[in-house]
Amino acid sequence: MYKITDYHQFDIDNAYDGDDLGVRYYDGKTVFKTWSPLATAVYLNLYLGGEGENRLETLPLERIDRGVWYVELLRRVERVYYTFTFEFDYNTRYETADIYARACGINGRRGYIADLKSLDPPGWDSVPRPVCENACDAIVYECHIRDFSSDPDSGIPDEDRGKFTAFTKKGTKYKNVSTCLDHLKELGITHVQLLPVFDYATVDESRPDKAQYNWGYDPLNYNCLEGSYSTDPFDPEARIAQFKQLVMTLHKNGIGVIMDVVYNHTYFTEESAFHKSFPYYYHRLNKDGKFSNGSGCGNETASDHIMYRRFMVNSLKFLAEEYKLDGFRFDLMALHDIETVNYIRDELDRYCPHLLMYGEGWTGGESPLSSDRLAYKWNSYQFARVGLFNDNIRDAIKGGTFNPYDIGYVSGNRNAFHTLKRGIAGSVPHRQLNDAPEACWAFEPDQAVNYCEAHDNHTLWDKLSICAKHFDRQDRVKMDKLAGALVLLSQGMPFLQLGQDFLRSKPRIPTNGEEVNEVTLVDHNSYNSPDYTNSVKWAEKAENIDVFNYYRSLIKLRKSSPLFRLRTKEEVDACLNFEDTGDGSFIVFTLEGNGDKFLIAVNPYTEERHIELREKYYIRLNEEGKMNKFPISSNAVIPPISLIVFKRING
Ligand code: CA
Repeated sequence: MYKITDYHQFDIDNAYDGDDLGVRYYDGKTVFKTWSPLATAVYLNLYLGGEGENRLETLPLERIDRGVWYVELLRRVERVYYTFTFEFDYNTRYETADIYARACGINGRRGYIADLKSLDPPGWDSVPRPVCENACDAIVYECHIRDFSSDPDSGIPDEDRGKFTAFTKKGTKYKNVSTCLDHLKELGITHVQLLPVFDYATVDESRPDKAQYNWGYDPLNYNCLEGSYSTDPFDPEARIAQFKQLVMTLHKNGIGVIMDVVYNHTYFTEESAFHKSFPYYYHRLNKDGKFSNGSGCGNETASDHIMYRRFMVNSLKFLAEEYKLDGFRFDLMALHDIETVNYIRDELDRYCPHLLMYGEGWTGGESPLSSDRLAYKWNSYQFARVGLFNDNIRDAIKGGTFNPYDIGYVSGNRNAFHTLKRGIAGSVPHRQLNDAPEACWAFEPDQAVNYCEAHDNHTLWDKLSICAKHFDRQDRVKMDKLAGALVLLSQGMPFLQLGQDFLRSKPRIPTNGEEVNEVTLVDHNSYNSPDYTNSVKWAEKAENIDVFNYYRSLIKLRKSSPLFRLRTKEEVDACLNFEDTGDGSFIVFTLEGNGDKFLIAVNPYTEERHIELREKYYIRLNEEGKMNKFPISSNAVIPPISLIVFKRING
């Protein structure tokens, strides 16, 4: 087949700017369109089922301008499955699902034609999105659909466990603590970020009885939903209706829904729908003509090629509109070029200005595209209003991610405070900070996604159980709470993982012959581990209710004052002041504005520390998350491994 040597010129000559690729209804007609400029023929195959020998008919598409192929049927085709067959060089034929398909059959092999609007739950149009004016106002909670409710203690009925529908169940409890939806409300987070819910490849949807698990970072059909999260994976409409119910329920409860999107690579390479639709166009290639692997997953997509860029933008707009999503989290976002990222931000803004957009400012390998064009964290000033996971504050708080024994600020590292202070100041320039310049990278605080636990790597509690194993449990609990407090009281957008608020662990059974120790007993990469490892154990909420209550108080505090959610670097510089304690690790800072003043003292030591207050304060949040209105105006005690928030008594 003809190989493209100059993609830029090829796009100028061939790119198509319509957003009508795929299947559309017009009056009584059904129109199919796809783009493949070098194909010598394209056929539409209609089927009765999502798999098996049940073809209804095959029709040729007609080539119209700019590489677009077209066929229309003079009827409204509904509840029918379809594929395209692309022919190249008059001899090679590939049959594949349509990359633009918006619904699909079992395991995503065939597209499915449906009226998606007809699957809206009753009341869909009357439930608005919760408004989030600025990313700093958001508190994001990362959840995997299955982990959320697969535990028998979740209180979710058997048939809904591990499914979209689990998110719609009210009033569930384990003993006396709320679980699932009620837990989300009780904790007070503003957004749920769902690990991949688009159709991914590695769980066999036709075997719901089989023990299977995956995070889902293996994309198959970007505009379709994952069938294994539906109570009926064989019904292509059920997953759509049920996901809409999930979104509507969360919206009704004031919680936004963020979708984790993985446009940076496809699970299959030569066998992917993209490659079969147009070989060597949608993926980046190395100079030797082989697929590059910037994702570490076997390939990387080419956002710098116009038709993949448009694919991404149209896909995101479709998902945002059809499912009323409130934002997107981009996996390995640095593999996308900056121009694409800005284009997406602009296009999403045009649809709704309050959608969140953030991602990982790193790659999983080396990309052939030059690093100054890619959305790396260090290029952040070129794509404002797009957040980036703050690995600086993460590692400063809990220690390096890739060495389990490495300690962080909360577990005794006395050199971590320089980087931590940058994080407290929203990773934007601050007049008092000169050290750790690499941790000062944000254009505005809304770019800093502050976290110390996510689905990748050890949970915070597991990390502490390794690197702080010489401390007793009580001290490790204090470290955990301090870590949570630092995430939630830093400037920027805080991010927590499901269960972080009650010491989530990912237990692992060491394999035969493996040494049993603190490292082998927990899982740091549980992408396909069983529920035993991944499920959130609701009994742990009951056991660690003090930790949960503390996180809940932190969230309430953060929401109580805009001083914890400053929106610009100028505001951070003006309102945030670090006090001189004569000891870098003993961090004391104030937040002052609009007549209010908070003083926050952070003691990472195992002995108590004292501060001299120069104004009259009360304790707004103590080490247990409680308030004490008793006025203090001189010596105040900061207990070991804790953070105390004082609020000035005005007048
Ligand atoms: Ca799937």
